[in-house]
Amino acid sequence: MPLIIITGLPTSGKSRRAQQLHTYLAERIASSPANSKYRLHLISDQTQDISRAVYDLSPDKLPAHVRSANASEKDARAALYGAVKRVLSPRDIVVLDGLNYIKGWRYQLFCEAKNVRTPSAVLQIGCGAERAKAVNEARLRRRNRRKQESKSHKDEKTTAQNSEEEAEREEEEKDKILADDDDDQEPYEPTNWENLVFRYEEPNPMTRWDSPLFTLIWDDDEVQARDVFSNIWEVIAGEARKIIRPNQSTVQRDKDPGGDYLYVLERETQDIVKKILEKQPDEGGGGEVIIPRGGTGTERNHDDLVVDLPETKVGLPQLQRHRRAFVALNRGGIGLEAVGKLMTNRLRESFVGYLNDAFEKDG
Ligand code: ADP
Ligand code: MG
Repeated sequence: MPLIIITGLPTSGKSRRAQQLHTYLAERIASSPANSKYRLHLISDQTQDISRAVYDLSPDKLPAHVRSANASEKDARAALYGAVKRVLSPRDIVVLDGLNYIKGWRYQLFCEAKNVRTPSAVLQIGCGAERAKAVNEARLRRRNRRKQESKSHKDEKTTAQNSEEEAEREEEEKDKILADDDDDQEPYEPTNWENLVFRYEEPNPMTRWDSPLFTLIWDDDEVQARDVFSNIWEVIAGEARKIIRPNQSTVQRDKDPGGDYLYVLERETQDIVKKILEKQPDEGGGGEVIIPRGGTGTERNHDDLVVDLPETKVGLPQLQRHRRAFVALNRGGIGLEAVGKLMTNRLRESFVGYLNDAFEKDG
């Protein structure tokens, strides 16, 4: 898939729901031969060995220069991104369990899914800050108790029987495996926890990257959870699964733009804006404008580009706004392999795709 992005406050029950969702999806995959093509992955801070401390911006935790760069969290995101990217495909369902609290980060993941032509969805775990905080505080207390236990344990060490100690340790290991709740999870330091709640950017179902948006709250029981999970399945693998077109808003880029590039970027996008203004019907009402791919000629060709106009007539300010946004996105260049006419063609195609997406969204 299909990518399912879990999001929610710290200690709000995200990993627990992620686990339930994972179990549900595994059942669905096993339930019919048609679904057996799917592979399932669960990716989280835990699977990537990312500590809670990477989110900590407290002055006493990090020197100022590290804090400003927020480097540890960036590294963590890069690791998660890499892990998702490595497996994500139309046949691989990825459950990404984590805070995923930054809007721009969710956008990036959405684009990644779109690039590999696979659907994405967001599952928000709704939980009041008070309850979530209580969970973290319980974990902090448990950690402190354990610290104390191990300290007194050390004090007695000289008198303790070695075999007894061994048995105790074995017992503890067994408990860890048996306890299916993740009760040995690391807590967040209190200021870290508060800061994360403060920084949390709620998903917005009106945006493409946060939709479709599903929600589960703490008190939702198994029936409700299965209901939501089954809706998620429909979107990512079922009948409702949409055909995903790769993102057309950015052109592949990897090298510095050549000298003429910015000039061509301006010229071609201006030209397309001009053609739309010239060719759209005065009365509005949708329709198409044919744009020659190569920038010249008026004859209709088999590979002409098509702008789908929105119902209401588009004006120059609206077109210029979209054009400027597109130029800003693609200032970085499209790579040296695309030069001359090829670069022109790709830019024009990309801008037309971008406009069609934008009109769809505006309308
Ligand atoms: P997060 O991943 O958001 O930090 P967890 O999923 O680890 O949170 O949950 C924190 C604790 O709360 C765990 O001990 C978990 O078992 C418990 N918990 C989470 N959600 C629920 C729920 N809906 N009902 C009961 N206990 C829950
Ligand atoms: Mg978790």
